[in-house]
Amino acid sequence: MTKKPKILLVYTGGTIGMVKDYNTNALKAFDFSQITNKIPELQQLNCAITTVSFEEPIDSSNMNTKYYVMIAEMIAKNYEDFDGFVVLTGSDTMSYVSSAISFMFENLQKPVIFTGSQLPIGDLRTDAKENLITSIQIAASTENDEPVVKEVGLYFEYKLYRANRTTKINAEQFEAFASMNYPPLAESGVHLLFNKHLLLEPDKKQNKIIFRKKLVDDIVVLKLFPGITKKVVETIVNIPNLRGIILETYGSGNAPTEKWFVKLLENAIEKGIYIVNVTQCAGGSVILGLYETSSELKRIGIINGKDITTETAIVKMMYLLGENLTKEEFKHYFETPLRGEISLN
Ligand code: ASP
Repeated sequence: MTKKPKILLVYTGGTIGMVKDYNTNALKAFDFSQITNKIPELQQLNCAITTVSFEEPIDSSNMNTKYYVMIAEMIAKNYEDFDGFVVLTGSDTMSYVSSAISFMFENLQKPVIFTGSQLPIGDLRTDAKENLITSIQIAASTENDEPVVKEVGLYFEYKLYRANRTTKINAEQFEAFASMNYPPLAESGVHLLFNKHLLLEPDKKQNKIIFRKKLVDDIVVLKLFPGITKKVVETIVNIPNLRGIILETYGSGNAPTEKWFVKLLENAIEKGIYIVNVTQCAGGSVILGLYETSSELKRIGIINGKDITTETAIVKMMYLLGENLTKEEFKHYFETPLRGEISLN
């Protein structure tokens, strides 16, 4: 008889682990080690579940890079002893944190599945049960004695996505996430069906997992809008110690051609600030030079974010800034898919 897969369930906070205080009507965190009392069905799963929890669970709006490191450390410390990991966070910033974790581990050979819910686990109409149970099943899925998923995923409302491709798109519907530029890795219907050709296959020769926890957070997102003033852009590029700007442009990477705008960005790049061009559109890609309105950006040495999400551009920048790369290396690695976060063509 083969051994039951061992799954580590990491609870960090969010709605999923909350119950309603019927006296006050407010949501409050419950003791997560009691999770099997809330969902007795977990005992029917063919795996051994161990839970660990943040001492003080957080609403994911309070997420920051220190918490990223805490979550990654919980996984790193237990990596050899478990077959898969399920991380529960609030959905508000789940795309950011799960994407960050995807960069913090290189050569990941085991599943790390993020999930949460829109309604608390104790609510009659909760989406938490299905999200949690199927996430555990995904993390425990094997084929030929190997995990099926060997990357960081995000499971929500019947779909498993590559975490670093996701965006939270809805605060009301159970289908809270979308992955506009990459199809789901798995879909849960009557059967749990993996789209195996879409999954990352780590390089078997490099079997040692590398854990990196240096993240640099001196960065900013600059979202363009018609009418943005010189004063605003000037103030942003002159933030003390600023290392990088995620520039959210229009359409396929277009921006104003006004001289003052291009000059401010050019000076920032000359000063050593990295500027990455990502699109404000939910789907599609930056194509530098397609229109005259992006040719100037190309000329001044802006980095092409291609079809990366803003969430992932932020965490990838934090990660690469911690790596002491030359300018050329930084641009090269940013424009290259490292964890499947950018499409090849
Ligand atoms: N505000 C909550 C959080 O992100 C919402 C949720 O859990 O989905 O922590």
